[in-house]
Amino acid sequence: MKPPSSSDKVVFLDRDGVINRDSPAYIKSWAEFDFLPGSLMGLRRLTAAGFTLIILSNQSAVNRGILRLETLLDMHRRLRADVAAAGGCITDIFFCPHRPEEGCACRKPLPGLLRKACSQHGINPSQTIMIGDSVKDIECARNAGCSQALLVKTGNGLSAAATLERRGIPVAYVAEDLRDAADWILSRIP
Ligand SMILES: [Mg+2]
Ligand SMILES: [Zn+2]
Repeated sequence: MKPPSSSDKVVFLDRDGVINRDSPAYIKSWAEFDFLPGSLMGLRRLTAAGFTLIILSNQSAVNRGILRLETLLDMHRRLRADVAAAGGCITDIFFCPHRPEEGCACRKPLPGLLRKACSQHGINPSQTIMIGDSVKDIECARNAGCSQALLVKTGNGLSAAATLERRGIPVAYVAEDLRDAADWILSRIP
């Protein structure tokens, strides 16, 4: 916990399809967790520039009964350790374990998870940037009042870009991958 600050530089990141390869069968173990090319470098560069990095992830596999909570928490410990070994820092990870039909308030595109993260860390949502690969991530950023949202072409990014364009929903930048997204942010923010 830290006090609110208007000068915070915070990047929220989706996990699957942004940091690691996504799978329609869910990521159910550390053996299935595969960092995308450039993602560790992107995280390192954002960390070096003073950004606070927080992951916001829908993990409905938990309540679908195909991913044990302890396994997910262990995966996140390993994820943070690998990012740290690469010179980056993930400050926190928030996830929604619910299935869509449970009607929770934290499953993206609803803003509940992002708001929880902001509340716990004293962050003003309007000072934050979202990086995601899905329409849900971009809509979450809009619903929560993030300053901007970036889409990466990895994961679901290409189909999401087409859907967003069709719906007339703008994104600040469509990046090749997380490293490109990080470089774009760093080129614009002192
Ligand atoms: Mg994703
Ligand atoms: Zn939820």
